[in-house]
Amino acid sequence: MARYTGAQCRLCRREGAKLYLKGDRCYTGKCAIDRRSYGPGMHGQSRKKVSEYGVQLREKQKTRRIYGVLEKQFSNYFERAERQSGVTGENLLRLLERRLDNVIYRLGLASSRTEARQLVRHGHYTVNGRRVSIPSFLVRVGDVITVHEGSKESPRIKELLERAADKTPPAWLEYSAGQATGTVVALPARDQIDAPVQEHLIVELYSR
Ligand code: SF4
Repeated sequence: MARYTGAQCRLCRREGAKLYLKGDRCYTGKCAIDRRSYGPGMHGQSRKKVSEYGVQLREKQKTRRIYGVLEKQFSNYFERAERQSGVTGENLLRLLERRLDNVIYRLGLASSRTEARQLVRHGHYTVNGRRVSIPSFLVRVGDVITVHEGSKESPRIKELLERAADKTPPAWLEYSAGQATGTVVALPARDQIDAPVQEHLIVELYSR
């Protein structure tokens, strides 16, 4: 599966917001947006009027970047969200939140979604006892996510397990530090999704 391989801090600077794409570094003084809070590139500091379309486009791009999803995949999520009953924007966010890489991140078993994606790809996690190496795998209520037995001795996984024990996941997830296991207890409600996104702008964009 294709993925963005360019500079990640550039994406935050483009969106003018911290998207927390680099894990631990995002919480240090090395964060690029703290040091240069203007857009990247030659025209990054120039001020220009943004059209309504521009605002909607930026919101979509920001959301895509937060979850590490490419354009085509994102529009597939949108189509799927539209077909579901309920509010399309909320359906969209719910689908994105249910991605396995996001769930691993939310459980505290990775420092960023980027790291979660890589760890999932390398087969470090299981869902309901089966190894899953697809970051876009959508979890369901009742799914049990845990570290693969063979990965528990990895120094990085050990460190992440220690950290996860001190974290509180969102209410739709439960984490048992003793068993290093996360459980999906419900689908995420909108107020449990803390991504700084105005999803109605994305719906407006795709409705053009
Ligand atoms: Fe974004 Fe993190 Fe880079 Fe800061 S350090 S600009 S939050 S990716």
